[in-house]
Amino acid sequence: MNQVKGVIFDFAGTTIDYGCFAPLKGFIDGFASKNVSITPEEARGPMGLLKVDHIRALTAIPHINKELQNNLGHSVTDDDVMEIYHVFEDVLLKNLVQYSDIKPFVVDCVDYLREKGIKIGSTSGYTREMMDFILPEVREKGYSPDYTVCADEVTKGRPAPYMIWQNMNALQIDNPRQVVKVGDTVADIKEGLSAETWTVGVVMGSSEMGLTEEEEKSLPKEELAKRKDVVKQRFYKAGADYIIDDLSELPNVIEKINDQLAEQEDHKLLTPGPLTTRKSVKLAQLADHCTWDDDYKKLTISVMNDITDICANTDEYATVLLQGSGSYAVEAMIQTFCKDDEKLLIVENGAYGKRMVKQAELAHKNYCVLSFDMCSAIDPEAVKNILESEPSIKTVMFVHSETTSGVINPIKEIASIAKAAGKTVLVDTMSSFAAYETNMKEWGIDALAASANKCLEGLPGLSFVIARKDLFEAKSNSKSLCLDLCDQYKGLYPDGKFRFTSPTTILLALRRAIDLYKMEGGLAARKERYAANHKVLMEETRKLGIKAIVDEKYQSYIITTFALEDISFEKMYTHLKKNGFVIYPGKLTDIPTFRIGTIGDIYPSDIKKLCDCIKAYKK
Ligand SMILES: *Cc1c(COP(=O)(O)O)cnc(C)c1O
Repeated sequence: MNQVKGVIFDFAGTTIDYGCFAPLKGFIDGFASKNVSITPEEARGPMGLLKVDHIRALTAIPHINKELQNNLGHSVTDDDVMEIYHVFEDVLLKNLVQYSDIKPFVVDCVDYLREKGIKIGSTSGYTREMMDFILPEVREKGYSPDYTVCADEVTKGRPAPYMIWQNMNALQIDNPRQVVKVGDTVADIKEGLSAETWTVGVVMGSSEMGLTEEEEKSLPKEELAKRKDVVKQRFYKAGADYIIDDLSELPNVIEKINDQLAEQEDHKLLTPGPLTTRKSVKLAQLADHCTWDDDYKKLTISVMNDITDICANTDEYATVLLQGSGSYAVEAMIQTFCKDDEKLLIVENGAYGKRMVKQAELAHKNYCVLSFDMCSAIDPEAVKNILESEPSIKTVMFVHSETTSGVINPIKEIASIAKAAGKTVLVDTMSSFAAYETNMKEWGIDALAASANKCLEGLPGLSFVIARKDLFEAKSNSKSLCLDLCDQYKGLYPDGKFRFTSPTTILLALRRAIDLYKMEGGLAARKERYAANHKVLMEETRKLGIKAIVDEKYQSYIITTFALEDISFEKMYTHLKKNGFVIYPGKLTDIPTFRIGTIGDIYPSDIKKLCDCIKAYKK
C-alpha cells in the first residue's frame, strides 16, 4: 500500500526544547569570547544546520565578519571558527539537559504514529556527542525515536539529504514519498525537499518563533497571530508542503498525505488509453519550460520529425502537434482538410467512426456515411462501389483500429481503393499508430490523426496530425481557429513554435516516450510485444471460458471485447483494481461486454497475472 511509512522529526524546537533555546546562549557566548556581540535573532538565523556550519554561517554576516576581523587583526580563519565553536560546545553541553523537556502533544502524536505502524526517525543539527547527553533524558521523559542520525555522522548536514537517507536505510523505507520530515526551521524544510520527502513546518515553540511557551502565551492575540504569520510565510517560501501550529495537527496531515498517496497508486491500465507508461516518461515532466524557448522549440521539432518518420518521409510529409486529446486532432483534420462544398464519405463501424460523423455535422461539412457492423471490418469492395456510384465524393475518412470493439480495418486496401479513385484519404490511426505498420505514401493516405497517449506510450493531452506538406500549406477550410491545422503548421515550421500555450511537460514526456520506443526496437518490437500480450490474453481467457466477441480474422492485438455473461462488471472491476489492474467496460450496444487492452507498457507476464486474478475472482 502506498502510505506514509515513516516520520522523521527534528529534535530541538520540534519535539523538545520549546522555542529552541539550548544552543542560543552558546552562540552568543562563543562570539562574545571574541568580543563580538550578536543578537538572539542573528544567532537563530541559520538554526538547523550542523552547529559548526551554523557558526561559519554567522561569521559570514557582514557586520559580524567586520567586527571579528577588527578584533582579531586578520581575516577570519577556520581556526577562529573552531575556537568559537569550542566555547559554544562547552556552554551547550552544560545547557542541554536543562533544555530537554518534551514539547506539548509529542507523546500523543508518537502514540498515534506507532499505532499506525509508522516508524519514527530523527535528524538533528547536534553532534552525536551532544545527542548522547540528550537521548537518555528525553527517553526518561517519554519520547524515544526508533532511530537518530546526527549531523556529524554524515558527509554533510542540512540542507543535504543524507541524514534522512540514513534514517530511511535504518528504518527500511525505500520510497522518500512515504516519508514525512517534520521540523521547526527553514533548514528542516530544505532538508526534506532535498531528500524529496513530504515536509511539515511546526510554528509554535519553533526556533523561527524564538519564544518560550510563557512568552507565546502572554503575547496579545493579534501580536501572536502576526508573528505566527511571519513564520508561516518563511516555511511556505522554503517550500513546505504543510504548516501546522503544533504536533496535535500532524495525524490529520498524515491522513491527507495518505489520501494523496492512494491517488498516486499505480495501476496497470488495460484500457483504450491513456495507458500504462514508464516511470521515466512521467519523470520527464519534472521541469517547467517556456513555450517559446529555443531549446524547447528544438525539442518540439525533434518530436515532430520522429513522429513523421514512423509512417512517412519528412520531405513530403510533416507532423503538426495539437493541444488536446485525440478527438481534437480528428476534428481538426475534418475542419482543415474538408471543403464545405465537396462531399466527405465517412466509413464507420464503431463509436469512433460515429464521433467523426458528429464532428462533420457540427462543422457543417457536406458528408455521407457508409456503416458496417461493429463486430466486423469495413469491406473495401463496398467502399469501391459507393465511390463508383457517387462520384461527388471527394474525401474518404475512416478509423484504422476501432477501439470500440477491437476490430482492425484493412487500412491499406481501403486507402488504396480511395486513392486510385482520386480521393483525399484521411484516417484515424489513434490506437494503431506505432503498433501497426502505416505507409502513408505507398498506401495513398493524405493525412492521419493519432495522439501521444496511445501506442507511443506517452501521456495524455497532446495529439497530432501527419499529412502531406502541401495540404498544410494550402488554404485552410477551418471555421475554428484552434483546430486550424494550416495555421498551427505555420507556427510549428520551421520554428517549432506553438501558436498558443503548449503542454510543455507532456511534450517532454513524449520526447522520452519516443526515445524508449526506439530503444525497444521501434514498430517491429512494439508490434511483437502487443501481439504476444494479445496471444496470452486469448489463451488464458479461453481456458476460463470467457468468450471474445469479434471473429479472430477481424481482431486486432490492441484491445479485445469479451462477453460478460453472468459476470458483474462492477464487482470484477473492483476486484481487479484491488489487485492493481484496471479494465474497461464494453461499448457494444446489443450485448453486455467488457474490454481488455493489450497496449501500453504492459508485458505478457502482466496479462498472465491479470488472467490469474480473473480466475480467482470467478471461483
Ligand atoms: C482513443 C481514440 C480516439 C481519441 O479519443 P480521445 O478520448 O479524444 O483521446 C479516437 N479514435 C480512436 C480509434 C481511439 O482509440
